[in-house]
Amino acid sequence: MKFRLSGACVVVVAAIMIYGVARPKGSPDLSQLQIDRAQERQLVLRNGFAIRNASLTHRVTQDEIPFVAGPEQLPQTLAATLPPIEGFWISTDSTNGIAAVAILRSDADSFVEVWGACQPTDCHWPPRPLRVVEPSTELGQAGQLKATLDGPVERSAIFRHDGQALLVEVAARYRDDSGRKDNHITERFTRPFAPTSNAGLPTLPPVASVVRDKYQREFGERVPIPAIFNDERSVDCSRNGHLTTTAYIRRPGNRSTLLEMYLSHDGTVVTAKRVSTVITPAGTFKTLVVIVRYGATVSADGIELFEKAQKQINEDHAAFARGRGYAAPLVVFENTNILVPREAIGDPRRLTDVRAAAASRGVSPTGYQLVIAIDPDPAHFAGGLSTPPTGDVYVGNFGHWTSELAQPEWTAMARVAYHHEVAHQWGWDHDWSPSCGETKLGFEPFMAAPVLLGWEDIDGDGLPEIVDDTPYGVRR
Ligand SMILES: [Zn+2]
Repeated sequence: MKFRLSGACVVVVAAIMIYGVARPKGSPDLSQLQIDRAQERQLVLRNGFAIRNASLTHRVTQDEIPFVAGPEQLPQTLAATLPPIEGFWISTDSTNGIAAVAILRSDADSFVEVWGACQPTDCHWPPRPLRVVEPSTELGQAGQLKATLDGPVERSAIFRHDGQALLVEVAARYRDDSGRKDNHITERFTRPFAPTSNAGLPTLPPVASVVRDKYQREFGERVPIPAIFNDERSVDCSRNGHLTTTAYIRRPGNRSTLLEMYLSHDGTVVTAKRVSTVITPAGTFKTLVVIVRYGATVSADGIELFEKAQKQINEDHAAFARGRGYAAPLVVFENTNILVPREAIGDPRRLTDVRAAAASRGVSPTGYQLVIAIDPDPAHFAGGLSTPPTGDVYVGNFGHWTSELAQPEWTAMARVAYHHEVAHQWGWDHDWSPSCGETKLGFEPFMAAPVLLGWEDIDGDGLPEIVDDTPYGVRR
């Protein structure tokens, strides 16, 4: 095998790559090259070849990667064709195993981050350095890039253009005793927004401008006018708070790819980021509600009281829309309610049992976007449960009620179901607006600032971002 770089270059490349793993952001600091012996041993171990000894060629043959180079080492023509592959890519099929891929570039290095569509938690690859494994011979093509992830599950991924799309092949080897078979998948990705240049971006207040830069840096995506919730009063009981920003990228069906970041109030420090596939928080939701009947808690008029509460939920959304001057509510729940005796359901907390019970009573759950179990079990107290993005919601007897529920209790159950658990299906997390107890932050009865759900028109084109074809000031 031919190794094209001189020994000195290899030191540079290796040091930058390791630097990149530890601190993917910012330009490499050449002082990193002053590596002490312990660090050097670590570099040798982690990179699979020695950095400063003479047996480079020999060591390199032990490395799976045939050609190791940072982008700064690429031939000029190849480096020039790299930008099109950089950016945020989302899977063309929302049921695929990988939700999104960000190919990022700092001054001298390229990285990839991958978000797997795993349940219940996403399987996020931390930033990995990208290496060119096969420079393209065709002009305008970046060839093949490769990244690897070590650990109990070893993954190696190849990234390459396929026309306007990005193809990603991932080979996974399981060394975690899980018994899972090694596998190989190929998935196709597209850019959700056309790449935009800095020119013509709207001028934003300082913090919003910093947040916009963070989207570019953390996701490789330009969000010209980001949605921001930044209220100093929003703190948890340890007085910790943050700025929250979200961006919904609409997908076919009622799915969206949701980008989220938590930052310091001045926007300068990113403390968390996440990509997930969620149900889009807009539209008419065909909702099947299974109310479990218990002699003690559900009176003869129980279902009527619950229907009244459901009406109020729809009215909450209608009132919000009227207040903003929208022609129609952004969210409407079209409910089908059925009352099922406890004996007719295996376990109300298992949505498969709830669906089966509905089906056995002639209501097929197919075609419903949301299935909600309302379970006022007087003997077992429980909170709510939401498993996004399946559309399955469970609301237990969180009020510890043991006698017949009156209107306030049914209303409380409806609010937990629709304003809280359903909001989780839309990607909402309790930490979007931390609070300690009952602090009112002004967006009640909703659980989060409407701007974070795409419900405000922040780019001034008359459409709230969640139903806007050019959301967040994006131009197409
Ligand atoms: Zn919750």
